[in-house]
Amino acid sequence: MRSNPTDRQGTLHLIPFFEGDWVKHIPRPQRTAPPTPGECAVFARRCQAAFRRTVELIGGRFVVGVHTSPAFRATAWTPVLRDTWLAAAEAGATIALHPHEEYLWVERRGQVAAHWRRVISEAIDRLKAIGLRPTAFRSGYGLLSPSMLPILETAGLTLDFSPAPGWRRLAGAPGWPGGWTSARWLCSRNPAHLRCGHRRSKILGIPIGAARVGSGKRWRYLVNEHCDLPTLQRIWDRLCEDAEGLPGPRCVNFIWCGYGLDRPGLVDQALSFLEYVLETGGIIPKPADLPYLFPERGPREWRTRRG
Ligand SMILES: [Zn+2]
Ligand SMILES: [Zn+2]
Repeated sequence: MRSNPTDRQGTLHLIPFFEGDWVKHIPRPQRTAPPTPGECAVFARRCQAAFRRTVELIGGRFVVGVHTSPAFRATAWTPVLRDTWLAAAEAGATIALHPHEEYLWVERRGQVAAHWRRVISEAIDRLKAIGLRPTAFRSGYGLLSPSMLPILETAGLTLDFSPAPGWRRLAGAPGWPGGWTSARWLCSRNPAHLRCGHRRSKILGIPIGAARVGSGKRWRYLVNEHCDLPTLQRIWDRLCEDAEGLPGPRCVNFIWCGYGLDRPGLVDQALSFLEYVLETGGIIPKPADLPYLFPERGPREWRTRRG
């Protein structure tokens, strides 16, 4: 691994983000009944096994998103899952809130801010009650509206993993411009703004690693369950090529979903991809160190050719 990554131009950093998702949530959850105690126990066992293998490879340098969508809200803190999140935190992992409330944009657009404020503060209180202090956030489906920024700042959720370049799949929902290809401080007025010159917020946004690869050159994303290993590697290689010669470090995230844990091949694939990242000179930093890697950028850097 490189000795002093912050000095290297275009050095690519990657943060693995494990989503504690039980089912796919695009855009509505495919399940509305809460999990049974038996299902919770199986899921917890799978998560713990995956975390142990991840820690063996990269220590605690990953994020665990506690999933709190409506059907799973009451069970997200039950003892067997509580012990799972605690074990991850004790191994050094960063705890994130991963609410998956994207149905709001479909059904209740006018109540988004009030609903978010309640969901986030209740979840943080529950996590604090079991000894966890979440510092990161990923909304679900990449959705992040301007009204959510002050809520996240107040809650101390200052690492946001929602950005996704080129992502706008839900009609009427906010999307992300194609230039959102590396970590940057979110604009205080609109998280989707790039190089606008407005005051920055206190939130560092880390996008999903994405590149236009394959036939049709459509965006492909570093999402473990959406790609095979060669595709993940191709996206990563493209990101490395694009980063070459650019000023300062760059950082993206890699999404790994809990709903794939019942397929051992997907766990192997996620870990093989992380090995590949390290073998090819990528850096997997501690999430808490990210704000120091990305000090506030000045106008000269806003004028660089890429985002
Ligand atoms: Zn998710
Ligand atoms: Zn702006």
